[in-house]
Amino acid sequence: MASVTIHDLRKSYGATPVIHGVSIDIRDGEFVTLVGPSGCGKSTLLRIIAGLEDVGGGEVRIGGRVVNDVAPKDRDIAMVFQSYALYPHMTVAGNMGFALTLKGTPKRAVTERVARAAEVLGLTPVLDRLPRHLSGGQRQRVAMGRAIVRDPQVFLFDEPLSNLDAKLRVQMRTEIKELHQRLKSTMIYVTHDQIEAMTMADRIVVMRDGIVEQVGEPLELYDRPANRFVAGFIGSPAMNFFEGRIAVNGEGHTAVNGAGHMAVNGAASFVTKDGTVLPLAGAPPDSDGRAAVYGLRPEHLSIDPERGIPAQVAVVEPTGSETMVVARLAGQEVVGVFRDRVTVRPGETLPLRPDPSAAHLFDAEGGGRRLTILS
Ligand code: ADP
Repeated sequence: MASVTIHDLRKSYGATPVIHGVSIDIRDGEFVTLVGPSGCGKSTLLRIIAGLEDVGGGEVRIGGRVVNDVAPKDRDIAMVFQSYALYPHMTVAGNMGFALTLKGTPKRAVTERVARAAEVLGLTPVLDRLPRHLSGGQRQRVAMGRAIVRDPQVFLFDEPLSNLDAKLRVQMRTEIKELHQRLKSTMIYVTHDQIEAMTMADRIVVMRDGIVEQVGEPLELYDRPANRFVAGFIGSPAMNFFEGRIAVNGEGHTAVNGAGHMAVNGAASFVTKDGTVLPLAGAPPDSDGRAAVYGLRPEHLSIDPERGIPAQVAVVEPTGSETMVVARLAGQEVVGVFRDRVTVRPGETLPLRPDPSAAHLFDAEGGGRRLTILS
């Protein structure tokens, strides 16, 4: 086990820079996911840690040792890829022990380590089978077994579940998390799937265009996204955003929302571009009239016949446990998720009330930094 420290890492392919000075501290035994849209540099970063790509600038340390110029085989890491081609003519045991055998590990030691890894992964009953006689999940476990037998300091995963069907993906997600709890090894896991990132990680690194946007625990990112990008990327369905202005003691009072409600005198509110008034529990200092973006997660809309803003329903999607409603509010589409069953039809009007204490504000300019709301 080991910590992984990345300092001011840079990387270009030819003249094109793709990693622009990334610094991340991964603690010994931590499960960290790297998440971000396709092309943001996650795999490149992982491959640099593995030693499969050169470092353009900066430093990578594994267990305190600078490994910039250390060959992959000497880094004491194991990598699990998305395509985990197993040797079709070798048994599960053969596949799992192959790397050790190649390294000249004595046969008995190989057998012992394979048996131990198989036990951890629930593969003991199928050790003598060929890959074609395994289910997709079992094959994926064999791929992980190959990594585990090497007993590495750090496990690196590059979208290992992308080729599996949805149900199996959810199951394997839990299995990898359990595996981490059992092995307590440092694990770095690349995914573009924010649900995977949220459910598995101790901490998440959100990347965009070769930079780190935010590092934090899953619920920290969910509850306090550093900027509009993270707010929109983490969470599904995504956060709703409204452009407009903050109103504290000024213009807000003259604005009338769709229900004909006036903003309460002296209270903070948010006035969207079409003049709809959205509630706020407070406002940033000196922000009256300031252009901003109002963010609200779908579960923070409630159906409130008294204080709700009339929204025209466009789509209703029941999932059984909850209902997702897409409706037009403040001149745009918003998404609401309700635990109670909602019996509305497209075209009908639903009074939707944003929970003011759950609303976020972001800077309208630049990187869309999150603004602190003082209530
Ligand atoms: P991600 O894993 O987040 O999808 P990658 O790390 O694969 O992103 O890629 C980051 C950027 O680097 C992308 O713009 C991609 O096109 C580019 N890139 C990746 N590998 C190479 C390569 N071998 N040669 C040139 N450009 C590359």
